Amino acid sequence: TSKIRIGIAGYGNLGRGVQSAIAKNPDMELVGVYTRRDPGTLDLAQPAPRFAMDELEQHAGGIDVLILCGGSRSDLPEQGPKFAALFNTVDSFDTHARIPEYFQSVDAPAKAAGKTALISVGWDPGMFSINRVFGEALLPDGQTYTFWGRGLSQGHSDAIRRVPGVAAGVQYTIPSQEAIDRVRAGQRPSLSTREKHQRECFVVLEDGADAQAVREAIVGMEHYFDQYDTTVEFIDEQTLAAEHSNMPHGGFVIRSGNTSDEQKQVIEYSLALGSNPEFTSSVLVAYARAAYRMNQSGITGAQTVYDVAPGLLSPKSPAQLRAELL
Ligand code: NDP
Repeated sequence: TSKIRIGIAGYGNLGRGVQSAIAKNPDMELVGVYTRRDPGTLDLAQPAPRFAMDELEQHAGGIDVLILCGGSRSDLPEQGPKFAALFNTVDSFDTHARIPEYFQSVDAPAKAAGKTALISVGWDPGMFSINRVFGEALLPDGQTYTFWGRGLSQGHSDAIRRVPGVAAGVQYTIPSQEAIDRVRAGQRPSLSTREKHQRECFVVLEDGADAQAVREAIVGMEHYFDQYDTTVEFIDEQTLAAEHSNMPHGGFVIRSGNTSDEQKQVIEYSLALGSNPEFTSSVLVAYARAAYRMNQSGITGAQTVYDVAPGLLSPKSPAQLRAELL
């Protein structure tokens, strides 16, 4: 059988991660990396054919699934609907509040073209969403808890870097061990924002900046930090580069419920990720296989992780799965 031909649209952290994930899936091949920048200037992790994004239209017949690796804020709202009219697509749109609207915008062009568009794939949204659905459906009398971290938050790191006097910085979200222990014990506590997570910042100051003023500006920042216990540690540029250039993340989805007055049940799914983008990319690639198969079986339009049967993610056949994993 021939390999599933994958295209990558956008070469940032996810684009790079998708390239390495394809190398671990022998039933797939990378046929092109597409970028809005000059393709010749891309610093590819491994050699691959590279093209201008504008060339995608001419390559429509040569790509089975296009993995959209653009940012959720401004790239995907434009690229999602546009490419769903030409390709089967998979993306990681993660602006939770706008997912219904994004779904609609991708669904119409995909349906009209007979293509399948899997949206909001990754870990949150993505694998965490699936586990929230399992928890609610299996334990209707219960409560769902999501804890994030220990992880680098891109949004909060950006917010720190905008504070006057800050040259560079990163922010880690830390789940509270005490809160997790209470949830795991089946106590079903109500937890305030402050009780669930702490925030830890590592900051490089600009020359002559007032450390105390910077600390106060960070800790008191509305929405981002004011509802949390936040620590700020000042470090030098070398330490930042040596100890804080990875993008770890992860977390826990826990459902705690009762099946009777006497019996408590706790379900837990956890991720400890060395690299958030590499793991997200690995998920995108498995879902590309599913998108290809769904399209072949006539399922078109926008779909989410809730619509994808687990067996479709596996390179194994249904018969093989029944024999080996059931
Ligand atoms: P990046 O900022 O690294 O890349 C986004 C786009 O920016 C790329 O597709 C690329 O497009 C362009 N770009 C990348 N590097 C450069 C550069 N040096 N100069 C100019 N342009 C550049 O984002 P990520 O790959 O880290 O993340 C993409 C999205 O994935 C995020 O917005 C987030 O919403 C989502 N995500 C979802 C997760 C989930 O669990 N669902 C988890 C993690 C992320 P081009 O090549 O066309 O220039």
